[in-house]
Amino acid sequence: MVDMDTLVSLCKRRGFIFQSSEIYGGFGSAWDYGPLGVELKRNVKNVWWRDLVQNREDIVGLDASILMSPQVWIASGHVEKFTDPLVDCKSCQRRFRADQVGDSCPECDGELTEARQFNTMFKTFVGPVEDDASVAYLRPETAQGIFVNFPNVQSATRRKLPFGIAQIGKAFRNEISPGNFTFRTREFEQMEIEYFVQPASDEEWFEYWVKERLEWYKRYGIKEENLRLRKHGPEELSHYSKATYDIEYNFPFGWSELEGIANRTDFDLRRHAEFSGKDMTYFDEETGEHIYSYVIEPSGGIDRAALAFLVDAYHEEEVRGRKRVLLRLHRDLAPVKVAVLPLLRNRPEIVALAKEIARDLRPHFVVIYDDTASIGKLYRRQDEIGTPYCVTVDVQSLEDGAVTVRERDSMEQVRPPVAELKELLLEKLRVC
Ligand code: ATP
Repeated sequence: MVDMDTLVSLCKRRGFIFQSSEIYGGFGSAWDYGPLGVELKRNVKNVWWRDLVQNREDIVGLDASILMSPQVWIASGHVEKFTDPLVDCKSCQRRFRADQVGDSCPECDGELTEARQFNTMFKTFVGPVEDDASVAYLRPETAQGIFVNFPNVQSATRRKLPFGIAQIGKAFRNEISPGNFTFRTREFEQMEIEYFVQPASDEEWFEYWVKERLEWYKRYGIKEENLRLRKHGPEELSHYSKATYDIEYNFPFGWSELEGIANRTDFDLRRHAEFSGKDMTYFDEETGEHIYSYVIEPSGGIDRAALAFLVDAYHEEEVRGRKRVLLRLHRDLAPVKVAVLPLLRNRPEIVALAKEIARDLRPHFVVIYDDTASIGKLYRRQDEIGTPYCVTVDVQSLEDGAVTVRERDSMEQVRPPVAELKELLLEKLRVC
């Protein structure tokens, strides 16, 4: 498995991920997605949205505001309970999350203070006056935007249980010990579904979503042996949860959470009804009763998913005595789908034909044209960023109107006529 230093360096060198504010020495655990990283991340979001919203009739989308009424976070329990236990080292003054360290300081072996609770929500002020009345929070999860809109979405869409509301968006947590590259940051993106079900069917739907989400990661290329499920023990459960499973990935720094699936029961809807005084129930036409629906929540992090896809795709092999590094990314996730490369960059006719081919393909795929190195180097570059197909234009192409198409993983080559190239690639890159 790839080590983190190698991956971080590839990400920087090729333009996937840069350190935030790097010219100022970086900014605590914040990262910027470069030209390739932004494509990868968009692809993760697009396949999730396509599979879970557009291709299903029982889930609709939402894009709620990051800033919400502070009442939301009082009702949800976050003001009171969204805390991590914090300890200080009495010698070196460093701070740690108590549940991530032993009895003494991991840096200097010094004595640690008693743990105290630290609320990890970011506070800010809305409007020109910084007083208690203007306090607001940056949302620590996208979920609450869904819960408070439950009556709006239900009445606008006339959905019957079971149905879900999905949302992708930024969330913020003032983590005590961020780290491991993009794995734990203070600003990150979540992809969450709140799936509303009849109260008695919650356990069945819980099992359904755990399986469904595990399969999803496998479908996009994560190896089965690198995924596992871990059930939360009673002491670990969030304040709103009756049962939670984490889907964990075998990262280079150890097994860690990719996504959590929680049975949130009717906790959030009841609390919002209580605190807002509004009706958050669902009218069951069959029984003629108003009920609080139960909620199953698959909640994943896009940054963690993108990191896992990169780690899992990284592959080194030896080809004719030389090391070949490649990212075997699923074709739907690869940032660039097709690279068009002229074999000889000093032959204007070859360059012109290659540029024309790239132009014709561009409306259909993310295409790169590159003539800045020898063909061997160009192939290596594309392998390293996970481009599934390279199209090479050579001298013979000028005579027979055919080009070479090379597949990334097998390195197999075929030679279709230019006139058939687009159809061939459309077929090979067809959405799965
Ligand atoms: P952890 O135990 O790692 O702190 P969590 O259990 O608090 O995570 P959840 O509240 O279940 O996380 O959040 C759902 C998902 O959001 C996580 O599975 C993860 O993918 C993502 N996520 C949570 N916190 C962070 C973070 N600080 N940086 C990046 N992604 C995060």
